[in-house]
Amino acid sequence: MAIFERSRFPRFSIGESLLPACSDVLREAGLFDLVEAQGYQVKTGAVFVRGEERCEFDFAQQFGDGATWTWQVPRAEFDAVLADGVRERGVPIFFEHTVTEVEVGDSPRLTVQAEDGTRDAVSARFIVDASGTGRILPRLLELEEPSDQPVRQAMFTHVRGDRRPQGPNSGRIVIVIHRQDVWIWIIPFSDGRTSLGVVAPPEWFESFPADPTARLRAAIHADPATHQRLADTEFLFEPRSTIGYSTSAKQLFGEGYCLVGNAGEFLDPVFSSGVTLALVCASRASDAIIRQLAGETVDWQADYSDYMARGVDTFRTFVNAWYDGSFHEVCFARPSNEKLKAMICAALAGYVWNLENPFVREHKRKLNQLLRVIRATGR
Ligand SMILES: Cc1cc2nc3c(=O)[nH]c(=O)nc-3n(C[C@H](O)[C@H](O)[C@H](O)COP(=O)(O)OP(=O)(O)OC[C@H]3O[C@@H](n4cnc5c(N)ncnc54)[C@H](O)[C@@H]3O)c2cc1C
Repeated sequence: MAIFERSRFPRFSIGESLLPACSDVLREAGLFDLVEAQGYQVKTGAVFVRGEERCEFDFAQQFGDGATWTWQVPRAEFDAVLADGVRERGVPIFFEHTVTEVEVGDSPRLTVQAEDGTRDAVSARFIVDASGTGRILPRLLELEEPSDQPVRQAMFTHVRGDRRPQGPNSGRIVIVIHRQDVWIWIIPFSDGRTSLGVVAPPEWFESFPADPTARLRAAIHADPATHQRLADTEFLFEPRSTIGYSTSAKQLFGEGYCLVGNAGEFLDPVFSSGVTLALVCASRASDAIIRQLAGETVDWQADYSDYMARGVDTFRTFVNAWYDGSFHEVCFARPSNEKLKAMICAALAGYVWNLENPFVREHKRKLNQLLRVIRATGR
């Protein structure tokens, strides 16, 4: 086995808030203790804020017996720690090696280009495309499919000087709802830095100055709750921006290859599902590949594609409900129904394959049912 990686780690990546379900995959891969030893900010839940209203999801109060906490991680370090762990377990990683061509089929081959421009042909028994937004195989095999999510934009940076609230949950991720389609993430790290990002339709940003720092400062200023917490912060790098990041693919596998993580599909950042879905994808793909290389016939459609689609579709229901405002109604309805909230909490913790959870088994129907009750009772 070998991994070819275009960049050299550590390198910046977005996607810093994890979900408890990803711990199960890290344990399975033997990497959990390594991550735990880094002392990352423990994440025990998430807070949604709209004006003066607050809704807290506490993973300890979730339906089922899933993990009750995870971490908020600076991805440059986190990814480098994982890469080192993988190398220590005997898998070579060739950094600064870009995959430029791929042949799939019964004898897959790659062309890999090193930093100095030299190219090598590599034969493989199976190719896993985990290239994220690089989307090597979707581009080369014309597997790209438009996402069902509209084009949205995110602007983000890391800051120092965030005025964190006091108390035991001061380090929790906060998602501020500025407008139904505009939201802000505040993700504290254990070293005092905080990740800050604003997500909105691209045209929303256009009313602000063009300079990225001035633009993000103006966007923060536009939201009173965020401004109060972050107005005096120092930006640690010029804000970056990504537009139209939601992606999909016609198929997740074929002869001699599969797509994992964002190379296959990326839905939306609002519920921090990306890394967890990518890890579950990788775990399912590894299991299928090991069985196939051992001579077993693998039903990739059922065991991989359909399985992943079930988890992604549960998140899709919640993401769509976020942007049409109905998830906000559920969040801020008072008094809240703690039993149903625990079921939603388990899905938001990443346990989107637990069919004992009605909000997973019948995600759309249950959410709509709950909304009807909230609207009918006016609370
Ligand atoms: C605005 C925003 C906020 C997000 N916030 C969160 C969050 O809070 N929590 C969360 O879980 N997820 C979040 N995500 C999603 C998260 O970033 C991804 O889902 C996650 O990083 C998993 O991606 P991946 O491993 O598939 O790809 P990546 O992390 O992008 O890794 C792909 C790797 O492939 C390499 N590569 C690319 N092309 C080539 C090539 N040709 N040859 C060799 N190597 C190549 C790249 O250098 C890169 O290292 C967010 C996404 C966005 C857009």
